[in-house]
Amino acid sequence: MTFAGPYAHQRVALATRHGKERVISRALHWGLGAQLLHVRSVDTDALGTFCGTVSRQGDAIQACIAKAEAALRVGGTNLAIASEGSFGPHPQLPFLASGVECMVFLDQQRGLLVKEQLLARRTNFAHRQVPPPSPSGPDAELARWLDQVGFPRHALMVRASASAGEQPGTTPGAVAKGLRRWDDLELALHRAAAASSDGLALVETDMRAHCNPTRMAEIRRLAFRLVRRLARPCPACDSPGWGVVDLRPGLPCANCGLPTAMTRALLWGCGHCGHQEEQPRADGRLQADPGHCDWCNP
Ligand SMILES: [Zn+2]
Ligand SMILES: [Zn+2]
Repeated sequence: MTFAGPYAHQRVALATRHGKERVISRALHWGLGAQLLHVRSVDTDALGTFCGTVSRQGDAIQACIAKAEAALRVGGTNLAIASEGSFGPHPQLPFLASGVECMVFLDQQRGLLVKEQLLARRTNFAHRQVPPPSPSGPDAELARWLDQVGFPRHALMVRASASAGEQPGTTPGAVAKGLRRWDDLELALHRAAAASSDGLALVETDMRAHCNPTRMAEIRRLAFRLVRRLARPCPACDSPGWGVVDLRPGLPCANCGLPTAMTRALLWGCGHCGHQEEQPRADGRLQADPGHCDWCNP
């Protein structure tokens, strides 16, 4: 396979200690013919971590840009890529957990910043407070939860549920991370419960990519989406990175014709020159099911 695009045979720096290089280098290779330069010396955790030991600076996109800039600096390249995830309650369904993954690509020579993000289809993001387990192993409730979050294929983190005298802004207690064996988890639960003023341990899913195959799969999906965008030139200025930037709601109801919340059109845009074009839905749908209509199905 030969590539003729703007990034063929170019090196793209990625700073990670979480094993993202494998999935991202495949996307760069197959999508752009580019090569990944793995920068190991940048401590991306210093830019904000999931477990709260370093509070996150700004939002996820800002954190992502900071990581990419660090990779550019240390890697000595003109191109860099970085990814960042954020997890919490689902924006529409607060009783469900959701994950948002974002990825940025920096092209210093062109002065280009290309962003892509996705709402994870699946995430195991969860936490719970538990008493120290008995020597006979996890109780039925904990066993069910461990199963739900995909332990031991997915690693866990444990800390004291409430540190005595802990104030907002102070450093929380020790966190045991990357736990994948019951023996290690059991020991961490006992230690954390003993250190906690309420006698409970807080156990959480470890969302770092190398500890979480579900998340790694989403990062892979996003990396391929980003390189597809990078491979498309803007029709106005020819800069790489032409892709969907927004969704326009208002697909008319098939029954009454009033606009619904469903997507009517896609707004495509260029991050370089600002050119935008509205295009119809990829599936060709022109009308919404009346079930989505506030008037026909209030
Ligand atoms: Zn209607
Ligand atoms: Zn353009």
